[in-house]
Amino acid sequence: MNIHEYQGKEILKRYGVRIQEGIVAETPEQAVEAAKRLTEETGTGWHVIKAQIHAGGRGKGGGVKLAKNLEQVKELSEQIIGMNLVTHQTGPEGKNVHKVLVAQDVYYPGPSETKEFYVSILLDRATGQNVIMYSTEGGMDIEEVAEHTPDKIFKEYINPTVGLQGFQARKVAFNFGLEGEAFKEMVKFITSLYKAYVDTDSSMFEINPVLKTSDNKILAVDAKVDLDDNALFRHKDLADLRDTNEEDPLEVEAGEHNLNYVKLDGNVGCMVNGAGLAMATMDIIKLSGGEPANFLDVGGGANAKTVEAGFRIILKDPNVKAILINIFGGIVRCDRVANGVVEAYKNIGNIDVPIIVRLQGTNAEEGARIIDESGLKVYSAVALKEAAQKVKDVISGVIA
Ligand code: GDP
Ligand code: MN
Repeated sequence: MNIHEYQGKEILKRYGVRIQEGIVAETPEQAVEAAKRLTEETGTGWHVIKAQIHAGGRGKGGGVKLAKNLEQVKELSEQIIGMNLVTHQTGPEGKNVHKVLVAQDVYYPGPSETKEFYVSILLDRATGQNVIMYSTEGGMDIEEVAEHTPDKIFKEYINPTVGLQGFQARKVAFNFGLEGEAFKEMVKFITSLYKAYVDTDSSMFEINPVLKTSDNKILAVDAKVDLDDNALFRHKDLADLRDTNEEDPLEVEAGEHNLNYVKLDGNVGCMVNGAGLAMATMDIIKLSGGEPANFLDVGGGANAKTVEAGFRIILKDPNVKAILINIFGGIVRCDRVANGVVEAYKNIGNIDVPIIVRLQGTNAEEGARIIDESGLKVYSAVALKEAAQKVKDVISGVIA
């Protein structure tokens, strides 16, 4: 689960990681109040107004702006709140901005130069260890650094049994070329950041940039925090940080029905029980010349209710030209699924896309008979090959 920058920073702060301080605002008036309070608390004269959306690259897209006085805070907040922000991570349709983070300006002049670094922590599945990835090339697209100058990206693997060791945090600070106060600050920064990552059961932290200020403080200017969904039951407070505004509405609806749904761009909707069968079904759709419109796993205990919820979600996707239901009746009997499909079809009414139902397993023949005798525009299939052929026929207009 992704969360906003301002929420990620709050978590970091709780763990003693120094951050660029800020206050979130939903209106330009709130933004001005926030700026006044920040000036009192931090002494900052200038402020940065930062769009809060679940995507990076906001700076380049015009979603991060520097305000040199309160009038500019108001003007820039007016511009940014409500804007449709397009970045390389949002896709061409962009994302609507509902909130801004009014933050202290941390790029102020001082005795030494400011420097931007890149630090992320993630799980490396190949080695089964957390890894700290870091680079002196912070602030810019890390993907570009990885492509053109991969030698500028360092990796520090953390042994899960002993955790992050002091020498490892010092190695990071050393490779950044830091010394004196900034070196000590970086060691503390990395140590606290790692603790926050482990304690919150996160799957990724990306802090880009980590800033060395002109007076040698080390702080997080940005925070991309990805929490592991499977561990959220252990962190009720973190689960509450979810912002469904940022998610695909169909995926949110599916989640409410405990369905595993991922929207895709194709024209054949599918509803399957079991992730492996869902993957195989998507392959079959492709082989038949179609493109899957979604991944949908209704789970082992599919009943009339779940089938109906799945149907409704698939039908809300205007690209869907046919639906393939592929259910293996192991725990659930095929005749019950068939009745569920017929019932759901009648409840929804007005379905004008052809539906192919392939039932296999307990009472498969009976299930097929129920479908065939329903009098609805639903085609049954027992063998997978038969289902594939029917998808092909439907797509090419032979039936339907
Ligand atoms: P992103 O573009 O979505 O990754 O958003 P960031 O939070 O990383 O901000 C983008 C850029 O805005 C940073 O790389 C900085 O160059 C700039 N920026 C962020 N905070 C400040 C600030 O306090 N002062 C100034 N002058 N620039 C800032
Ligand atoms: Mn950033």
